[in-house]
Amino acid sequence: KARAFAGLPTGNRLTVLSGPSGVGKSTVVAELRRAHPEVWLSVSVTTRKPRPGEVHGVEYFFADEAEFDRLAASGELLEWAEFAGNKYGTPRGPVLSKLAAGVPTLLEIDLQGARQVRATMPEAILIFLAPPTWEELEKRLRGRGTEPEDVIARRLAAGRIEMAAEQEFDLTLVNTSVQDVCHRLIALLADAPEASRPG
Ligand code: 5GP
Repeated sequence: KARAFAGLPTGNRLTVLSGPSGVGKSTVVAELRRAHPEVWLSVSVTTRKPRPGEVHGVEYFFADEAEFDRLAASGELLEWAEFAGNKYGTPRGPVLSKLAAGVPTLLEIDLQGARQVRATMPEAILIFLAPPTWEELEKRLRGRGTEPEDVIARRLAAGRIEMAAEQEFDLTLVNTSVQDVCHRLIALLADAPEASRPG
């Protein structure tokens, strides 16, 4: 699993954080934003409606279906996928310019997107964020209280598929503590050897 990037500089490599919905990716990303402003987090485009508190241009660029399709068709998305009824995609231009400038760059995307990145940018590091247990994932997804039951069911179904794909990733981080995951992620982005040890 640790198809380890041992010794490889991460300076201009892309790091991808993926994992099932509800695992805590957004919390980890929010903590990274707070504690490590030197890491650049790509802001995705989505057709999903904003959740309370989400701000256009911060968590996502919120777009309608026509605008999203236009971006996808004109090749402006590095990858995109449909997830639980909405479309999500990574704007290509900003990612490429950050990488070119040597800025540590992180994408938080789903499994389908991670696979596209693997195919088009094989040097990218793919990190799987796993819940401590499946029960914990279900609890977190429901506890969020932002989605109706049918949406939760779709996300759990997608989560089962995502969990089964863990071995496609370079490294798994178990989300037992947001601080711990952030610490390991930062070490990876900074290419510190401690993070490339399995665990
Ligand atoms: P949410 O609606 O909970 O914010 O995100 C749902 C799923 O879409 C999450 O698994 C998230 O990682 C994923 N996602 C967010 N942005 C992108 C993106 O640009 N591309 C892809 N493929 N998935 C994304």
